[in-house]
Amino acid sequence: MLIPNMNYSHMKDSYLFYNIAQKVKAYSAAHPDEHIYRLGIGDVSLPLCDAVINGLHKAADDQADPATFNGYMPECGAPFLRKAVADHYRSRGVQLTDEEVFISSGASDELGDVLDLFDRVNRSLIIEPAYPAYVDANVMGGREIVHLPSSKENGFLPLPDDSISAELIYLCSPNNPTGAVFSKEQLKKWVDFANARGSVILFDAAYEAFIEDDTLPRSIFEIEGARTCAIEICSLSKTAGFTGTRLGYTVIPAELERCGMNLNAMWVRNRTTKTNGVSYIIQRAACEVFTSEGQAQIHANIEIYKNNARTIMQALDKLGIWYTGGKNAPYIWLKCPNGMGSWEFFDFLLNEVQVVGTPGEGFGKCGEGYFRFSTFGSPEDTRIAAEMIAKRLAEI
Ligand code: PLP
Repeated sequence: MLIPNMNYSHMKDSYLFYNIAQKVKAYSAAHPDEHIYRLGIGDVSLPLCDAVINGLHKAADDQADPATFNGYMPECGAPFLRKAVADHYRSRGVQLTDEEVFISSGASDELGDVLDLFDRVNRSLIIEPAYPAYVDANVMGGREIVHLPSSKENGFLPLPDDSISAELIYLCSPNNPTGAVFSKEQLKKWVDFANARGSVILFDAAYEAFIEDDTLPRSIFEIEGARTCAIEICSLSKTAGFTGTRLGYTVIPAELERCGMNLNAMWVRNRTTKTNGVSYIIQRAACEVFTSEGQAQIHANIEIYKNNARTIMQALDKLGIWYTGGKNAPYIWLKCPNGMGSWEFFDFLLNEVQVVGTPGEGFGKCGEGYFRFSTFGSPEDTRIAAEMIAKRLAEI
């Protein structure tokens, strides 16, 4: 008899975005003329920059000419893009070889797939509140999860201690949903902890491009000792608006070994079996992100999202509401005012000022009483929403 992967029966349905959509739908049906201000979305709203669009057109033309046509791409990534990514790291003082960079279709794919490298007996440490995919990928794989709740008291940046025992450690910095960013000193503690125990850190750097404080680490490989204990997973989704275009990259250092097995070599073996590479057209266009023209253009877009963040932060500052994030991350994580619960505050904002955000409880139990605003919305909507929130909350 065929036995399906019974781990799926242990998976909780993710009601978060479904519930939000249902509530917004019901509100809109009852108030068809009212505009909804969306500060909940984690998707970008600005189009791809010109450099990338030109790259896409040029690459499409390459595919029309027998002299420049490409069939299957190398499974671990086109050499030109692996080099462009490694050069980008090198320009920031992180020394990598091109062969340590693997091109992917995005960070979500990799966060799940990379678990193939590790035996199922390993336990995965997940700091909560967390990006829901970490939990789901581990439950699907039948892995034990060690939940580490974080709090306002530690700025949502918990540090390791002897009570923690796990072989895989997920770190996300800048964090989704809290927007909190580990300092170099804090990350060093995690790196030392992992090296001392033989654990491996899966470092999700999907929001590194939003860091504006140069003292903060954009890559875990800025930390001494990380090359023997970390894998970094990154994405152009938020950096360059690739959510619908799809491109990511994963860095596995050559010296990362456990039990005599080399994880970089294992990943080469995995990729050459399980993928046939990312589309030539997308990889060629992604290269444009790493040119000086591309960097200037993507940072101009990021600046628009950062302006949105400043607009929201000003409103919260005026109200004296506690929050993290916003400055070095595209998310603002705030304490719900007047002791409101996450969903209570959601309903309040929707009903009173037609603003939609994301209840913190949806990212783990310790998110109850908190709320996430995304800064990826339109500047006009963000400005009006912030004004209305400031005005209405000042009245209560
Ligand atoms: N990691 C984090 C923390 C995210 O928030 C997201 C997307 O929202 C991803 C990874 C997934 O990125 P991608 O679009 O590359 O799959």
